[in-house]
Amino acid sequence: MGYKGGMSIQIYTANGAFSAAQLRQIAEASERYGNGTARLMSARAVALPGVPEEQRAALAEELAAADLLTAMPEQSLRPVGFCRGLHCRHGQIDTQGLAAKIEERFLTAYKDAALPHKFRIAVCGCANNCAKVDLCDIGIMGWQHGYKVYLGGMWGKKRRAGTASRDILHTEEDVLDLVGRALDLYQKEGRQRERFGDMLERLALADQSDILAYAAAKEAD
Ligand code: SF4
Repeated sequence: MGYKGGMSIQIYTANGAFSAAQLRQIAEASERYGNGTARLMSARAVALPGVPEEQRAALAEELAAADLLTAMPEQSLRPVGFCRGLHCRHGQIDTQGLAAKIEERFLTAYKDAALPHKFRIAVCGCANNCAKVDLCDIGIMGWQHGYKVYLGGMWGKKRRAGTASRDILHTEEDVLDLVGRALDLYQKEGRQRERFGDMLERLALADQSDILAYAAAKEAD
C-alpha cells in the first residue's frame, strides 16, 4: 500500500528487540492509526506511515503502555543506534546499556528543544564498527579500557567520516558528560540547518578536548 498522507511515526524498543505481543500491537496500530503498513528503518525502528497528526499523541500513549517508544518526525535528536555489544563475542562494552542511558538523559530533554539539524548518536562494541558510528554526529566505540569517540560524522547527500578523538574516555559518565556538552554547544552555536560536523569545522573544534574547553570558556563568560 502506498503512502496516503499523514505522518510517519517511528517505533522502537529500549533493547532493540520486539516481542511477539509488541509486533501484534504495532500491526493493530498500523491498521487503526496508519495506512496498514510498517516500514523497516535503518536503525532499530519500524515506521508507521499515514498517521493523522491529531492522532499521534493517542498512538504514542497506546504504544507506551506496551513498552514501545515513539519518535516524531520533527524530533532532531534521533533514537541512539547500537550493535549487539556484550551479546557479541567481540563486544568490549555494554552498548545497549550505554545507549539507554544516553536516551534516558537526553532524548526527553531534547524532545521539544529544536537543534539546528538532525542529530544521530550510535554506540558499537568494538573496532569492527557494525553500527557505523564514525558516520554519526557522535559515535562511541568500545575500545581497550574505555570508549573511543568520533565527532561530526554524517551520511546522506553529504557524507563525512567523524574525527576520532585523541584520548580514550574511561567511564560511561565521561561519555554522557561529553554528549551533554556537545548537544548544548550545538543548540547554542549551530546555525539553522548546519550539521554538527560543519559547525565543529567552522569553530575549529577538532577534538573532544576542544569541545570541553570551548564549553568551559563559554560557561565562564
Ligand atoms: S561492532 Fe563489534 S561488538 Fe558490535 S556487533 Fe560488530 S563485531 Fe560485535
